[in-house]
Amino acid sequence: VSGAAPAAAACGFSAAGVGTAAVLGLGLIGGSLARDLAAGGVRVLGHDRHGETLAAATAEGVVHHALDASLHGIGEADLALVAVPVQAAPELLARLAALLPDGALVMDVGSTKRAVVEAAQQAGLGARFVGAHPLAGDHRSGWGTSRRGLFREARVFLAPAPDAAPACVQRARSVWAALGARPELLPAAEHDRRLAWSSHLPQAAATALALALSDARVSREELGPGGRDATRLAASDAEMWVGIARDNAENLAGAITGLEERLRTLRRAVEHGNVATLHAIFREAARWAGS
Ligand code: NAP
Repeated sequence: VSGAAPAAAACGFSAAGVGTAAVLGLGLIGGSLARDLAAGGVRVLGHDRHGETLAAATAEGVVHHALDASLHGIGEADLALVAVPVQAAPELLARLAALLPDGALVMDVGSTKRAVVEAAQQAGLGARFVGAHPLAGDHRSGWGTSRRGLFREARVFLAPAPDAAPACVQRARSVWAALGARPELLPAAEHDRRLAWSSHLPQAAATALALALSDARVSREELGPGGRDATRLAASDAEMWVGIARDNAENLAGAITGLEERLRTLRRAVEHGNVATLHAIFREAARWAGS
């Protein structure tokens, strides 16, 4: 299936040197990238392991050329974006190394960065690999949830491979800026340490809370707005989070330990009716939350 890309819109993809982009994995993140790229005049080559998704993306005019499992035709891309769960990225990167032209920039969008940067280096893509993690999206997944403008005003962490060419890093910045995002450089190991706390721990806490409620036979319908807010992330895609938990195991385990310690202190204060400690705990947390 192929077709012509729409006329270039007045945005910066051409300034970033992107005429044709391949998006691999047309879920929430990949689908949203494909939509914005297509709307910006980029010719989009799309691949998804679900034929129905690929057909829908093509029918909507977002994907101009559908790539089958062989990825035949990807050699036309100036940019390849890997948007699959983190555990599936290394195999795809190894295949891309053999298929992409030398000048093509390669990025992923995964929620962990250390393992994927290493995989890109092992695949021989280090000089042109810039890992990316957009702080955008939500607990839903799949093409049906993808949308235009998802990355507008979003922070995007960029973790280039250590040997990435400065020109590739600059192009990566330009691509995300053209998507309306705010790119920030952050080395992969530091990214994974920080995100274990700011992203992966909130997911783990929501998941554990959902399970504790389930054990107590409390359904989600019984919850008020606060309970629903606190458990929303528990609905996230299991495959995606298993990959993240495995990739960032050490950092996440440390963060979970920090949460366990706080919960233990809270439980003891509740058990002993220690009002002063309870006051201190709730006040300190409220100060942190900015109330
Ligand atoms: P998604 O909506 O589930 O999309 C993932 C896509 O990858 C789907 O097309 C899926 O196909 C495909 N896929 C799954 N397993 C695969 C495999 N083993 N080989 C090849 N393709 C496979 O997930 P998403 O939210 O877009 O997440 C994509 C990436 O973005 C992940 O690495 C995630 O960590 C990262 N990310 C997510 C968010 C978020 O809020 N969701 C935010 C920032 C970054 P099927 O439909 O056939 O499963």
